Amino acid sequence: MEPLRIILHLDMDSFFASIEAREHPEFRGKPIIVGADPKGGSGRGVVSTASYEARKFGIRSGMPISRAFSLCPEGVYLPPTFPLYTKVSHEVMEILRTYSDHFHQVSIDEAFLDISRTGSYSAAEGLARRIKGEILEREHLTCSVGIGPSRIVAKIASDFMKPDGLTVVEPDRVLAFLAPLPVGKIPGIGKKTGGELARMGIQTIGDLSGYDVQLLKSRFGRWGLHMHELAQGRDVHDIREDGVSRSISRETTFEEDTDDPATLIRALEDMTADLHRTLTGENLFFRTLTLKIRYTGFITKTWSRTIPHETNTLQTLQDLTRGLLASVPGRGTVRLIGIRLSNLQEMGAAQRSIDEYLSGGAYSNTGDE
Ligand SMILES: [Mg+2]
Repeated sequence: MEPLRIILHLDMDSFFASIEAREHPEFRGKPIIVGADPKGGSGRGVVSTASYEARKFGIRSGMPISRAFSLCPEGVYLPPTFPLYTKVSHEVMEILRTYSDHFHQVSIDEAFLDISRTGSYSAAEGLARRIKGEILEREHLTCSVGIGPSRIVAKIASDFMKPDGLTVVEPDRVLAFLAPLPVGKIPGIGKKTGGELARMGIQTIGDLSGYDVQLLKSRFGRWGLHMHELAQGRDVHDIREDGVSRSISRETTFEEDTDDPATLIRALEDMTADLHRTLTGENLFFRTLTLKIRYTGFITKTWSRTIPHETNTLQTLQDLTRGLLASVPGRGTVRLIGIRLSNLQEMGAAQRSIDEYLSGGAYSNTGDE
């Protein structure tokens, strides 16, 4: 018999908008839209987060702000205050970390926990209630939690009853739970894949799991096999593998030991460019960058920096690398220099858009679209 596996996924409810409501009691109960300046309907840029009150008007994340304004001109439109959101995110994640060693943050307001050690789904449900209670008490924010035997099931379950939801899907209920849901609930199945599946007569996750896997493979390649697995509630990665042990690194050993800063910087620039290609090619995002220097005489030292939110931009890679290099104390001749990226995460399109937003890419009132 396979060991019992219990995965919890937690997702904060309309995170940015809920924080604004908490900070500004005068806005509570009103439709709050965090995002670009609507400028009376002519603003550019997009909605980052809409409160549940704003969602009643049809406003959604990622929608052009001008469209949101036309749906709800009386809404409270606020620019994002990222330093505050990041601070609250840290506090929430610190709470979560106390409940399991196997913790994996996937975005600013989402994380997975492996809580198999609770031993049963009813004990896991009790743990989830305690977590929700602690976050409400300490942060005055609600979240939605899903529990299931895999990450995919936990993730879909957390989205099942928002806001303030708690959905537990025991292993023998997985197929029945997933079957009626639209295929778009599977992360990675967006409009494009969803449209192709619809043309094949596949509307629900049940349709997908019952579809001939060889036909899916011939149509979508490996992704076809993968989505067929996901439709049955199975996923490949385990939290430990995915969150803790994966890293990518590059290093250079100089032909002659050097203390020339320009040589070190050039070597690091080549490495960051190469790492950036790997990250974007594999759709990986990182949070921790470690600089490694081996001096003449084989003394090896490392310096690390962890940022609050996953990224994969070349700019961040370069900034972190330069910052760490500048912080290296003293001088010595260098035999080898290297960079390692860890706390890696593979991300779907939804999280990618948050990352772009946070790094300014999708949030632009001035530039061209
Ligand atoms: Mg959320």
